[in-house]
Amino acid sequence: MRRKISVIIPAYNEEENIPLIAERLFTLFEKHPTYEPEVIFMNDGSRDESLEVLKALSEKYMNLYYIDFSRNFGHQNALRAGYDHATGDAVICLDADMQHPPEMIFELIKKWENGFEVVLCKRKDNSEHVGRFKKASSNNFYRTLSFLTDINIEPSTADFRLIDRKLVDIIKSLPEKDIFFRGMIAWMGFKQTVVEYEQQARIHGETKYSFKKMMSLAFTGLTSFSVKPLHTAIYLGLSISCLSILYIPYAVVSYLNGSAISGWASLIVTVSFFGGLQLLILGVIGLYLGKLFMQSKHRPEYIVRETNIQS
Ligand code: UDP
Ligand code: MG
Repeated sequence: MRRKISVIIPAYNEEENIPLIAERLFTLFEKHPTYEPEVIFMNDGSRDESLEVLKALSEKYMNLYYIDFSRNFGHQNALRAGYDHATGDAVICLDADMQHPPEMIFELIKKWENGFEVVLCKRKDNSEHVGRFKKASSNNFYRTLSFLTDINIEPSTADFRLIDRKLVDIIKSLPEKDIFFRGMIAWMGFKQTVVEYEQQARIHGETKYSFKKMMSLAFTGLTSFSVKPLHTAIYLGLSISCLSILYIPYAVVSYLNGSAISGWASLIVTVSFFGGLQLLILGVIGLYLGKLFMQSKHRPEYIVRETNIQS
């Protein structure tokens, strides 16, 4: 029996890239007729002609599907939609911009055939087409994340991976909103392996990950897997209270010396320091509270305007 491979591709303003990646993928699958392809594009509220391009392509390729969102819901939610709709025995996610070389997918499939349920792709460190800022920020982020949480995400892996149907079914059944997939898949376990790849240049357009989106992904990652930031706040508060006790003798001595008023500078420093610290800790608590609030509303993570997938 032919095994079915789903390829899910989030696309946000990628009208120029979509036809290229679709053609490349279907040509590749023609060379591997033992696998049945299913290519699903999630059109994440693109403001360009992506949808029209996808509609035209779906006439040309029988196994090309699109899910059009009512607005931009973000990359991770687009992935969620892909997992929700994919019917393959294995599901691979790719970027629409060809930064993840499509040729790699048969390498992933080979690993999967050898019994691995998760195959992660790790960007080679010497990959040319990764900005220095991106490399440094991603490395620091993973270090912080593994310090703050008990999950270890393989550094330099992004959302380019193959997962088995078993994991897809579990993801579908998770009630959790705002999933950080890299972390979730590391957390799920199963037999995992890593393959290396050379990151390519984005062929058209610019990165769709604005600084704001990157920060929001980082916060989602940090708060999804751990309440350690809250504990850190407690420890920080505690140690500062202890330190400030040491301040009391100084205050008493100054009072006795009659030079109490001269402490203005140290006073203002302390006040602003604690003001900042309190705001920071309140912010951390606020992040978790916000998460609970959003989760409690049970809103869908994405809204489909139209699709050519028949359910
Ligand atoms: N993307 C998306 N919604 C967004 C931002 C990005 O669907 O809000 C898609 C984008 O079209 C691409 C993938 O997610 O296929 C990864 O984005 P990008 O290549 O811009 O990120 P980078 O590779 O620069 O990290
Ligand atoms: Mg990219």
